Amino acid sequence: MNHFLHLPTIMVIHACSTLISALLIANLWRQRRTSVLLGILTFAAAIGFFGTVVHAMRPIVPFWMSAGLAPGAGALSLGLFWQAIAVFEGKRPSYFRATAGTLIWFVLYLTPIFHASIMFRTAAIALIMGTYSVLGGREIWLGMRREPLPSRKLAAGVHCARGAVWYSVLVGSLLLDPAYKAPGQYADWFVMASLLQTLLVMLSIITLLILALERDERASRLVAERDPLTNLRNRRSFVEHAEALLKRESNPSALLLFDIDHFKRINDTHGHAAGDKVLMEFAATLEGRMQADWLLARIGGEEFACLVPNAGTAAAADIAEAMRRAVEFLHATIDGRFVSVTVSVGVAATDEVAPSLDPLLAAADVALYLAKAEGRNAVRIHQPGQSLRGLLAGDHMPPAAANQARAYARASRANRPG
Ligand code: GH3
Ligand code: MG
Ligand code: MG
Repeated sequence: MNHFLHLPTIMVIHACSTLISALLIANLWRQRRTSVLLGILTFAAAIGFFGTVVHAMRPIVPFWMSAGLAPGAGALSLGLFWQAIAVFEGKRPSYFRATAGTLIWFVLYLTPIFHASIMFRTAAIALIMGTYSVLGGREIWLGMRREPLPSRKLAAGVHCARGAVWYSVLVGSLLLDPAYKAPGQYADWFVMASLLQTLLVMLSIITLLILALERDERASRLVAERDPLTNLRNRRSFVEHAEALLKRESNPSALLLFDIDHFKRINDTHGHAAGDKVLMEFAATLEGRMQADWLLARIGGEEFACLVPNAGTAAAADIAEAMRRAVEFLHATIDGRFVSVTVSVGVAATDEVAPSLDPLLAAADVALYLAKAEGRNAVRIHQPGQSLRGLLAGDHMPPAAANQARAYARASRANRPG
């Protein structure tokens, strides 16, 4: 019988590619011996290689080896692969789940009706292998919300495609010819499915390694975007995201600028470590009141900013007032003593100010100066026409408050980055 493709050649290629994968992964594991993921993957690839080689030696090894042991090894390899993905997703590996397919296979293999029928044997192993592949794909897909990596869809798709090819083997063996008819004779559909499997096995390993690389890259990006003390966004990340948000948003957006009152005194009285603790508790207090689409950041030493989309001046003032009050209730404990913390807040919104970040920051800053000048622990809203220059010159302010504003301006200029 003339075949378009030669099955033994495909099996050799399959075995070689599994061997190369096993060696590459084993080498990675050697460098990171503590990685459970790489350990399981190494065993999965090695067992897969063993299964392929024994299966390919069909003409020369005993029947129980090529028709019983080899598919069992294949099922174990895919079960382990599934559990390697589970570990990648932060779960504990279940060796029961990894081996269940092989156990089911051996029980079926020893059942006379399966033992005697190539059709039933092929269908059974294809069902087990297909289900393991789809479960692996499902695991990757479910991680999408928790950790959106760019190649998740591709990796999940490759695993599901592997599952689909196995299910096609199941259908083919039941409805078309048996996979193997006689020694040296095999069905064309089975050859095609074997070729696809060879390609998809390589792809599934490559996509999993790509996901691991993307995870590392994402982690370092998150570190670069975060302030290490409070784990809030830093100034650079805030500017980038706030500008993008303001460009997208057609409704008014508001900026709240927070500056902790007399923070230097906390440092001077209780020490810098205590100051750090207050900063962390302050950040957690604000973060606890955030909604999903708000943007909060630590933009300076004891200065924080929050961009609230879809909020005009009046709504933003209410939000700021609620946060100011929450901070009043904070009472950080340092060495068993309560330390009270208050904050001044400047508010500006794009229903009054040009809808881009710089004018908003400048306007909220003016309002913050006013809050400081008028006694601190207060919320002030930027009014049209107000400017920093006018404020410092004493416009619309008693002389004592203007002096306060000037003192605050000197101190904050000295402490601001750049
Ligand atoms: P005001 O009410 O006018 O804002 O007074 P203030 O003392 O809060 O403001 P000032 O700008 O004079 O002082 C801010 C202080 O914040 C000075 C700086 O040492 C301290 N600081 C800045 N970053 C950190 C930090 O990461 N940890 C600690 N503990 N202190 C910090
Ligand atoms: Mg301050
Ligand atoms: Mg300050």
